[in-house]
Amino acid sequence: MQAVQAQVESHYRSELVDRIRARGHELSAGGLTIKLAKEFGFCYGVERAIDLAYAARKSFPADKPIYLLGEIIHNPEVNDQIRNLGIQTISNKPTEEEMARLRSEDVVIIPAFGTEVATRRKLEEKGCILVDTTCGDVMSVWKRVRQYSKETVTSIIHGKAKHEETKATTSQATAYGSGHYLVVFNLDETDYVCDYILRGGNKEEFLSKFKGAYSPGFDPDVHLQAVGVANQTTMLRGETEEVQKRLRGAMEKRYGAADLPKHFRFFDTICGATQDRQDALGKLLAEPLDLLIVIGGYNSSNTSHLAEMGEKVLPTFFIKNAAKMESAALIRHWNQETHVEAATPDWLPSGNITVGITAGASCPNNLIEDTIRRLFELAGN
Ligand code: SF4
Repeated sequence: MQAVQAQVESHYRSELVDRIRARGHELSAGGLTIKLAKEFGFCYGVERAIDLAYAARKSFPADKPIYLLGEIIHNPEVNDQIRNLGIQTISNKPTEEEMARLRSEDVVIIPAFGTEVATRRKLEEKGCILVDTTCGDVMSVWKRVRQYSKETVTSIIHGKAKHEETKATTSQATAYGSGHYLVVFNLDETDYVCDYILRGGNKEEFLSKFKGAYSPGFDPDVHLQAVGVANQTTMLRGETEEVQKRLRGAMEKRYGAADLPKHFRFFDTICGATQDRQDALGKLLAEPLDLLIVIGGYNSSNTSHLAEMGEKVLPTFFIKNAAKMESAALIRHWNQETHVEAATPDWLPSGNITVGITAGASCPNNLIEDTIRRLFELAGN
């Protein structure tokens, strides 16, 4: 790990960002002031995953194939760099054909958000050498969900059912014990579940509404009698608290306060890095800003929540790199409603302006530097 640190730093570090950080997270020139959130960019889990991938390439002979399950983290530039090292990408849930291609002793890297229990087992049976970069905070969620499962408590996971981390987590819920799981994405879905707990309802409608987000054999009439809440590590803290509050309230009404411990569990599994970035952005948004730039991969969960926080307060542009700021008259940015890149004209006001900047946990500092340089260039400095 130590031997590759210099190489990793040379790819992702930014002296400019370090200088701005050391000078109070602010930089002004001409009419433009940029303010960086106090916490932004790479988290400890992402740094460790990248270091391990680089270290794997350095440790194994150059002619030994190394494969990566999907993406190491959710950032396209970082994934390109990993491929440039000669690490080959296969699906995060390898197809039969990909599995057949793998040989015993091939090296396979598991990304920071982990992998499903069945995938891991297949790779182990095949005799592959696993380089496991799963973040410790993700493993804490797994531990909790396994505990629920052993106690025949259904895990209700606040998260995105299709996200790799949540898929890995749900696989833990069914691999041990007799547990089930249900993934709820937002408060509307939570309210629907609460209503079912309290009043019952149409089972077919329930199962069709949550298709793809519950365990095989899940029956809402049977498996919502004892529930434990956990969450994907990168959700919005406020929303996750509300999810558990509403479910707790429904279970208390249904079974009474005295019996609540038999029917309801909760464990906060938002990771520290996500929390720090959301808190820092909350403070930044309390300052006078003209607009906010959020940098990160469009499939990055923690970055999308930072953008969501900004969108509630001021014009916010979620971009994956500086090239998206084509000119002061045109920016291309991710639209979280439509899931496509949108183009906004005349996005950068002239005159004296203050721009807030933050970046997701999978965004390296060199991309933040590119964004800052481009902003000053477009503002005419
Ligand atoms: S965002 Fe949190 S859970 Fe994900 S890698 Fe970073 S520290 Fe770990």
